[in-house]
Amino acid sequence: MALSTPLSQMSVALPIGIDGSSRSMIKVQSVSFTEKSCGPLLRLDTVSRKLSLKKRSKVCMSLQQQASRSKVSVTPLELEEPKETPLNLYRPKEPYTAKIVSVERIVGPQAPGETCHIVIDHDGKVPYWEGQSYGVIPPGENPKKPGAPHNVRLYSIASTRYGDSFDGKTASLCVRRAQYYDPETGKEDPSKAGVCSNFLCNAKPGDKVQITGPSGKVMLLPEEDPKATHIMIATGTGVAPFRGYLRRMFMEDVPTFKFDGLAWLFLGVANSDSLLYDEEFSSYLKDYPENFRYDKALSREEKNKKGGKMYVQDKIEEYSDEIFKLLDNGAHIYFCGLKGMMPGIQDTLKRVAEERGESWEQKLTQLRKNKQWHVEVY
Ligand code: FAD
Repeated sequence: MALSTPLSQMSVALPIGIDGSSRSMIKVQSVSFTEKSCGPLLRLDTVSRKLSLKKRSKVCMSLQQQASRSKVSVTPLELEEPKETPLNLYRPKEPYTAKIVSVERIVGPQAPGETCHIVIDHDGKVPYWEGQSYGVIPPGENPKKPGAPHNVRLYSIASTRYGDSFDGKTASLCVRRAQYYDPETGKEDPSKAGVCSNFLCNAKPGDKVQITGPSGKVMLLPEEDPKATHIMIATGTGVAPFRGYLRRMFMEDVPTFKFDGLAWLFLGVANSDSLLYDEEFSSYLKDYPENFRYDKALSREEKNKKGGKMYVQDKIEEYSDEIFKLLDNGAHIYFCGLKGMMPGIQDTLKRVAEERGESWEQKLTQLRKNKQWHVEVY
C-alpha cells in the first residue's frame, strides 16, 4: 500500500483506533510521513506497534488528535471526476484479488457478539463511491454446489472513496461475525458459523481476499446540494455507509464537496460497548455542532418512555416533529442495518403521521417519488 508520492511533512491524519476507546488506540505525537501509509501496523500488538513507530519516522495520528485538526487532504482527486457511478467492475466469475491490510475488533468486552473493522487494499483497482458495497467470495467450496466457489456475500463499504489511508487504495468494511447458538442448549455451534464473516474477522494482514463490485446505487450520497439535510438511521453494522458519508462531510478536505448542511445520525446498538466508530462521530459533534447531530439508542442499557427497551424507533419518535418538518423541507432519510429494524420504524412513522393528521402511505409515496427515501437492509 505504498503511496505514490513522498508525503514527508504533509499534513495527514490517519485513524488507528476507530472504536472510540483506548482499547485499540495508539497515541503518537508527530505527523510527518515517509513513503508508506500506516495500514500494516494496525495488527501489531501495542508494544511492538509502539516500538515500530519509534524505529521508523513513519507515524500516524489517533482520531483524538485528528479531532482538533483541520481537514485531511485526500488524493487522487481524479476520483471525483467520473460522472458515472462505478458499478460491477469485478464480477463473481472474475473477482479482483485484494489484500487484507488490517482486522480490528471494534467493540468492547460487554458487547454481545463481535464486530470488526477490516481494511482491504485494492491498490486503486476497485474504485467505489460512498454508500456502495463490495462483494466478498470466501475461500473454499460451496457446500450446495460441490466444486464451485461460495456465493458472494455483500458488505457495505465503511470508508469514503479515499479509504482510511486517504490515498484511494483501500476500502474498509464493518463486519459482524455470524455465530450460531443452538436454540436448545444455548451453546455455540462452530460448524454452523457464518462462512464469510468469520473468514473476514479471522483474516490476517497480507491474506488474499476475492472481491466483486462495487455495487448499489440506493445509498449513494446525493451531493448536488451541499446544504441538504441527511437523516441516517442505522442499527449495528448498518452504520457502515454512514461512516463513509460522515468522513466525506467532516474529515476529508474534498475541493468539490464542501458540506454545509445537516447530517443527523441515529445509531441503535445493544449497549455502550457495542457502539461503533463512536469517537469519530463524537469528534464531529464537537467540531461541527451546527452541522451534525448524533443520537444513540442503547437497547439493553436505556429505557424508552413506556419503560421498554430503547430502540432507534423510540429515538425517531422522540424527535418526530423535527424529523417530519425536515422531510417536508426535502431532507433525505436513509435506513441501513438488519431487515428486522424496518417494521418497528415504519409502525412508528405511521403512528406519528396519523397523530399529525397525515397519511403515512401518501407521505411515503411522495418521499420515494422525490428520491428522499433510501433503504438498504439485509
Ligand atoms: P452464512 O455462512 O451465509 O450463514 C448465514 C447464517 O446462517 C449465519 O448466521 C450462520 O450462523 C447461519 N447458519 C449456518 N449454517 C446453519 C445451519 N446449518 N443451520 C442454521 N443456521 C445456520 N454484514 C455485515 O456484517 N456488515 C455489513 O456492512 C453488511 N452489509 C451488507 C449489505 C448488503 C447489501 C447485504 C445484502 C448484506 C450485508 N451484510 C453485511 C450481510 C452479509 O452479506 C452476510 O450475509 C453476513 O456476513 C453473513 O454471511 P456469512 O457468510 O458469515 O454467513
